[in-house]
Amino acid sequence: KLHNIVQETKGNIRVFCRCRPLSKVETSSGCKCVVDFDGANDGDIGIINGGTAKKTFKFDRVYTPKDDQAEVYADASPLVTSVLDGYNVCIFAYGQTGTGKTFTMEGTERNRGVNYRTLEELFKIAEERKDTVTYNISVSVLEVYNEQIRDLLATSPSSKKLEIKQAGEGSHHVPGIVEAKVEDINEVWDVLQTGSNSRAVGSNNVNEHSSRSHCMLCIMVRAKNLINGDCTRSKLWLVDLAGSERLAKTDAQGDRLKEAQNINRSLSALGDVISALASRSSHIPYRNSKLTHLLQDSLGGDSKALMFVQISPSDNDASETLSSLNFASRVR
Ligand code: ADP
Ligand code: MG
Repeated sequence: KLHNIVQETKGNIRVFCRCRPLSKVETSSGCKCVVDFDGANDGDIGIINGGTAKKTFKFDRVYTPKDDQAEVYADASPLVTSVLDGYNVCIFAYGQTGTGKTFTMEGTERNRGVNYRTLEELFKIAEERKDTVTYNISVSVLEVYNEQIRDLLATSPSSKKLEIKQAGEGSHHVPGIVEAKVEDINEVWDVLQTGSNSRAVGSNNVNEHSSRSHCMLCIMVRAKNLINGDCTRSKLWLVDLAGSERLAKTDAQGDRLKEAQNINRSLSALGDVISALASRSSHIPYRNSKLTHLLQDSLGGDSKALMFVQISPSDNDASETLSSLNFASRVR
């Protein structure tokens, strides 16, 4: 498969668009595919809107429903492995609930996603380089829900509020969060599952809760060069964002309204940060949300970022799909 490799992207943000297959339920209830993949090899994707008008978008990559986890990871791999060379990196999945954000990032036991494959490759390269560099790898798993940070690896709930602190030039951290040291790949799936399983503890609907919170995996890499003694620290964020869907007006009351406002606020803060970076603005508004504040070290400057915009092929979802594609083309 021929891919047109795009190296130079404004603001160092790459955008990959991934469309999931039509589900069995959609197929059996007569939903039609409104996404056109004819230009997918060139990064073009089209959406048929309202029966006739077709709107097309261009991204760094377009994945059709047939593309598997390994193909998707292969394209993210160069970015991921640059964390071993001292770069900060951020990868996030954006899109409507049900479009495959968690599938892309976490995946399933049999179809593992970007998170697991990333750690697998980091360990592999660390092993290959072990005569010249010693790598120390640890992970934290956080959730941001209603502008509050929760530590998904904490064994007992802490009463203390978690806050973001600046620790010297361009380095942010959350004092008190668990940093689990991972020694080899065999430990990784379990640690990631522990994080994922605590995502909705205390809420009565797991899927609903996870669609309204951002789940953030942070991989910290400390490297010591055995030849010249240089030490570096870098960070890789892998983020499964809250669902981008707009809430029906009738649902917008009480807690649901507050959640929706917080999601809107953080996703638009993310869009604002990325477009400020792309236009080389002198002020980058990182502080407008917990999400962007946490990602600050890994968005902008020398760091590298990748966004997966996840979409549904179904005619039922066409308007949300259009709004996700518009968001994604704004950041590119
Ligand atoms: P989100 O996290 O965006 O709400 P999910 O990752 O939970 O969406 O995906 C919704 C459903 O679609 C899940 O059952 C998932 O396994 C399936 N799915 C998503 N993307 C794909 C894909 N590329 N191939 C096959 N199944 C997928
Ligand atoms: Mg999800």
